[in-house]
Parts: sequence; structure tokens; C-alpha cells
Amino acid sequence: MNDCIFCKIIEDKLPAYKVYEDEKFMAFLDIAPVNPGHTFVVPKKHFVSLSDVPKEYTADFMTVVKKVGDAVMEAVGVEGFNLGMNNGGVAGQIVPHVHMHIMPRVESDGLKLWPSKKYSPGEDKQVAQKIRQALGQDHEEN
Ligand code: AMP
Ligand code: ZN
Repeated sequence: MNDCIFCKIIEDKLPAYKVYEDEKFMAFLDIAPVNPGHTFVVPKKHFVSLSDVPKEYTADFMTVVKKVGDAVMEAVGVEGFNLGMNNGGVAGQIVPHVHMHIMPRVESDGLKLWPSKKYSPGEDKQVAQKIRQALGQDHEEN
């Protein structure tokens, strides 16, 4: 038996304020919003994190996020929103069913983006090389 709370919401076994549904995706309000209108877009099928989401879902995922994001902005009367997705416990993922946060923003909300660090000399070049390698794009030397 699947204990996932988002699967239960999708299957109508737990209450939520649903705002969108199509064949593959659903959107509903976060129970503890950063601002009113904070909404999730989730695939209706259970995938834990973005790494588990198959290619047939990825483009449609962003299409739905844009559609719902635009509607949220209009509905709550804001001019911007942040997208957020926590992938893995180390990244703060609490609910293990992949979900994109749409977080409406207002000037006075006091939310801050993440803090930044500095690379040590040469570290950035090395890291970029490793990422290119992982992507199979390591043919170029720069
Ligand atoms: P995270 O996995 O870090 O993205 O965090 C889980 C998010 O799910 C938090 O923002 C919670 O407020 C939200 N949440 C937890 N339970 C529910 C629920 N039953 N309905 C709606 N949102 C929920
Ligand atoms: Zn689930």
C-alpha cells in the first residue's frame, strides 16, 4: 500500500484545494504557503524526484507549471513567482513525490533567495568539466 500523502490527495483520499487536473498532472495548494496562492504541480503517477521522471513527462511538466504559474499570478494579483523543487532529503525534500512549488512573491514578503559561496581558484573550471563529462559534452576543451 502506497503511503504517499500526495498520491492520497491525487486519489481523493486526503483533502486538498485542487486547482488543475489533466491526464498526467494535478495542481493543488500548499497547506503552509509562503504567500497565498502557493501551489504545487505534481505528476499524478508516483515518482520520487526529478531524476525518476521519465522523458515523456518532462516537457509537459513545465508546460503545466507555466500555465498554473500564470493563473496563480492573475488570481492572487502578483507580478512574479519563484519555482522551487527539492530533490532528495539533503535538498530538503520532505514529501517523496516529485512536486514543483509555485511561490507567488510580493515586494514586502521578506523572503530571501539562497546564500552564495565563492569557488576556490580552479575549482569552477574543474566542476564545469565534470558536469560536461556527465552530460557527454566533454569534447570541447575550454
Ligand atoms: P518539500 O518536500 O520540502 O517540498 O516540502 C513539502 C511541502 O508539502 C511543504 O511545503 C508542506 O507545506 C507541503 N504539504 C505537506 N503536507 C501537505 C498536504 N497534506 N497538503 C498540501 N501541502 C502539504
Ligand atoms: Zn506519491
